[in-house]
Amino acid sequence: MTATTTLILGGGFGGIAAANSLRRLVPQEHEIVIIDKSPSFHVGAGKTWVMLDERTVEHISKPRKNLLDRGIRFLQANVLSLDLERNVVATDSQALRWDYLVIALGVDLDLASVPGLAEGAQTFYTLEGAQRLQSALKEFKGGDLAILIPTTPFKCPPAPYEAAILLRHAFAARGLAEKVRIAIYTVEGAPMATAGPEMGQYIRSELAQRSIGYHPQKKLVRIDSAARRMSFEDGSEAGYDLLVAVPPHDAPRVVRDAQLTNQSGWIPVDPLTLKVTGIPGSGEVYAVGDVTSVPLPGRYKPEAALSLPKAGVFAEAHGRVAAHQIAAKILGREPSETFDGRGYCYLELGGGRAVKADGSFFELPHPVMQKQVPDEAQFRDKLAWVARHLTPVS
Ligand SMILES: Cc1cc2nc3c(=O)[nH]c(=O)nc-3n(C[C@H](O)[C@H](O)[C@H](O)COP(=O)(O)OP(=O)(O)OC[C@H]3O[C@@H](n4cnc5c(N)ncnc54)[C@H](O)[C@@H]3O)c2cc1C
Repeated sequence: MTATTTLILGGGFGGIAAANSLRRLVPQEHEIVIIDKSPSFHVGAGKTWVMLDERTVEHISKPRKNLLDRGIRFLQANVLSLDLERNVVATDSQALRWDYLVIALGVDLDLASVPGLAEGAQTFYTLEGAQRLQSALKEFKGGDLAILIPTTPFKCPPAPYEAAILLRHAFAARGLAEKVRIAIYTVEGAPMATAGPEMGQYIRSELAQRSIGYHPQKKLVRIDSAARRMSFEDGSEAGYDLLVAVPPHDAPRVVRDAQLTNQSGWIPVDPLTLKVTGIPGSGEVYAVGDVTSVPLPGRYKPEAALSLPKAGVFAEAHGRVAAHQIAAKILGREPSETFDGRGYCYLELGGGRAVKADGSFFELPHPVMQKQVPDEAQFRDKLAWVARHLTPVS
């Protein structure tokens, strides 16, 4: 058997799962290299805890190399370009050739892509943002706190709603319940629209119970950060004292430059195998996680096509599937695993309670999501889920 090299670009949820799964499936002579610009992995689900000063960045992070099985090479480098004809990745430290490529580069977040947003808004979507927002929240003694979702898709669709609920809880604990008004302004038609109308209604009722304003279908035109006002396409305006935004998401520049994205703005993949589709010459190239667009077979409305939400659970499942597909090619066998469209998420409700929702996104006529009754046990499950992703491999 000829020795092969698999390059994995990005060492987040998808990249780590792909690397570890593949290492367990193919003999050591097959080289696996994972490349990430940053040495430290962090769990996105912990960013609201950093925002609320309940955990430090260190609590929700681990050195990437500690999470990788022995026999995987970790290269800390910035991926600069992909040559799909010569199978070569250029980084800021060296060029590497691949036989199999897994793209797991996540998303680029850019507040500056909407006029006024970078000057006017805080965010908890990045670690640095969550730390800055932590200080701003400590100084915030009352007024209008607006949570803005200016564009879709964005990772972890429940996250802004969860943040609103947790903030409401935190202000009440500080004795500021009466002084802080929280409202969400979103371009979406409903919360977690891909999960279906019932889930959306559930979240809306959780918001209403806490007097959190909810304003759907608000397409942002501009922010006047000096006057602290947002203007929307329907002509309405809203003021704020503290603005917290979900930054617009884009595919990373390196994959856009390689023309790997389609009209969705993301890398199109076969929903079952995660192999990149529709791009001549893409060879043995897989893409997993947030950087992909995974079309779903079902719909709620005939005219509205759906795609898989962006989430760590899916990125991880994708990584495992891509590894199985590659291992099958290397070993000359039939692949033993395809992606089944299943995943779950936790919505924290404050006070140590959470609700877990299990989704089956390949169902027809539309995706199905089922939730349990919120309780402490589901919050403990979430803590265990986060801890599991930060546990070094032995
Ligand atoms: C507030 C918040 C809460 C969340 N909660 C949950 C949750 O409860 N459950 C859940 O499942 N998901 C959750 N998510 C979403 C989850 O974090 C992402 O969906 C997940 O990280 C996607 O995994 P990925 O591997 O596709 O990308 P990432 O994990 O983002 O990894 C991409 C990696 O690529 C690297 N990279 C990018 N560009 C380059 C380059 N040019 N060169 C080198 N390296 C590069 C980055 O450094 C990064 O490490 C949450 C996200 C947020 C922001």
